[in-house]
Amino acid sequence: MCVFCKIINNEIPSYKIYESEHALAFLDISQNTVGHTLVIPKKHVENIFELDSDTGKEIFDAVLKTTQILKEKLNIQNVNLLNNNGSLAGQVVGHYHIHIIPRYGNDECYFKECPHEPNFDELAKLHKRITE
Ligand code: 5GP
Ligand code: ZN
Repeated sequence: MCVFCKIINNEIPSYKIYESEHALAFLDISQNTVGHTLVIPKKHVENIFELDSDTGKEIFDAVLKTTQILKEKLNIQNVNLLNNNGSLAGQVVGHYHIHIIPRYGNDECYFKECPHEPNFDELAKLHKRITE
């Protein structure tokens, strides 16, 4: 059983922030910033490619509610949502999860930016490839 399924089954402890019928939010054990929280489905789904629409809606509803709780209790005004799918995208735990990462000034939490000049020919080709 995966580590997040063990958290759902209370086999290992966690600091729960919000719970609904099909989703759970709890503090990330390693706080990128103060209040860093994970939202997961209660059923084991590995990543977004396996996620069904109803579960996705339930998770996002839990993300909204959890973000409101963090906003009120921690007085945050800025937040990143992060969701890694697959090892090349940085997914370590193979149970779908959305990170809620509150942002503060000078919090030393960096996401890599990829600045590129727009290539309109490539954009048009790509759009064709995806939509045809
Ligand atoms: P990923 O890189 O897969 O998107 O993120 C996995 C996250 O799960 C990491 O931020 C890591 O700190 C967190 N994590 C891993 N094991 C545990 C655990 O046992 N308890 C909690 N609360 N968080 C965990
Ligand atoms: Zn699991």
